[in-house]
Amino acid sequence: DQTAPQTAQQAAGKPVFDPAAVRDDFPLLGVEVNGEPLVYLDSAATSQRPRAVLDAERRFLETVNSAVHRGAHTLAAEATELFEGARATVAGFVGAEPEQLVWTSGATAGLNLVAYSLGNAAAGRAVPGHEDAVRQWVPGPGDDIVVTEAEHHANLVPWLELAARTGAAVRAIPVHDDGTLDLDAAGALLTPRTRVLAFSHVSNVLGVVNPVEQLVALAREATGGTALTVLDACQSAPHLPLDLPALGVDVAVFSGHKVLGPNGIGALYGRAEVLEALPPFLLGGSMITTVTLEGAEYLPPPQRFEAGTQPVSQAVALAAAVDYQRAVADRFGTDALLAHERALERQLRHGLRELPGIRLLGDAAGTDDGTVERVALQAFEVDGVHAHDVGQLLDARGVAVRVGHHCAQPLHRRFGTTASVRASAGIYTTAHDVDVFLDALSGVRSYFG
Ligand code: PLP
Repeated sequence: DQTAPQTAQQAAGKPVFDPAAVRDDFPLLGVEVNGEPLVYLDSAATSQRPRAVLDAERRFLETVNSAVHRGAHTLAAEATELFEGARATVAGFVGAEPEQLVWTSGATAGLNLVAYSLGNAAAGRAVPGHEDAVRQWVPGPGDDIVVTEAEHHANLVPWLELAARTGAAVRAIPVHDDGTLDLDAAGALLTPRTRVLAFSHVSNVLGVVNPVEQLVALAREATGGTALTVLDACQSAPHLPLDLPALGVDVAVFSGHKVLGPNGIGALYGRAEVLEALPPFLLGGSMITTVTLEGAEYLPPPQRFEAGTQPVSQAVALAAAVDYQRAVADRFGTDALLAHERALERQLRHGLRELPGIRLLGDAAGTDDGTVERVALQAFEVDGVHAHDVGQLLDARGVAVRVGHHCAQPLHRRFGTTASVRASAGIYTTAHDVDVFLDALSGVRSYFG
């Protein structure tokens, strides 16, 4: 019963979130595609931006734009204030302190930063005074980097490269048929030789929410707390309130363009001791104290990891996205937003299951009794029809979905396929959107006979 969670909210006299109340804030949602009103179910790839975000970036560019730090002029000082204020706002979004938040160009850049930093440490480039701290995370021959079978390539390929450079092995925690992680296998894979445990909070294919605290505890148990825990929070940040310090991970990454913000910016959160100990990845301007022709000394974090000219207007706009989401949460209540998320997730998955010839990835038929926590995001296959054809037919009805391997080839291989269709919701997604999508999908198989 797809409306049950909202009905329960209403019955309990609690506020209900109706996404129609925010849709007008998103100009793009008003466009037509192929003569049909747009039904945007591709938010896991990139979210749409509210006017408040578009305006904030434009206002900054029209009235303040200049490079931050070290400028002697008024605009540089104002830009610096806005840039560092944005850091504080975005850090607050994930429960962190400003100095624990490093700007990156996105989640991929954040994950590469950590992997290459460890590679630099492996090559003997530790931060003076922090050699012992970093050594425990640096893999070498006979050591393991543990990931999961469900990782996005951004949280897999950098680790494969680090393993190849250091002689370590990458081992993957398997995924059950219902999309959850095999925690028994995780317990066995995590050993005193584990240097890094890197995993996603929410799979970008299955929508399953992984038990972060449990995995961190397993890693701690196996290693005595010496493994570096790395969380890919790309797909949880848009759907769930995040408190990264409370989750206990050492570092975490997310992308601005998936949380109603702009492209070209993301963030890396790190525990203070971890950021202190990691050597820099990118080198150049903005990250040094002194440079001679013989060598350089580096600034403390977060600037140590922010070489080059900073993405200032993007940071300001990402802070506006966070402020916008906070205002929506204040207006409707976080519980109401979560109840709506749950209602959409159930409507999407139950609707897909009811259609003939549809196979959901990570949904062992009949085993999902609602005990697996998921967000409103699901990949599936249509019997006898290629994912790209499904995508095109849906597009003809104005429905935008993603098709392909979603940068998760090993996971698709695990489920015996190479490509799938993915529908994913955002804060502005309505039950009507999901209805239109399911209706359009029901015609796809008959079209192909
Ligand atoms: N991790 C996950 C789970 C993702 O879904 C994505 C984006 O699709 C990424 C990492 C990479 O994010 P970006 O392309 O913004 O760097």
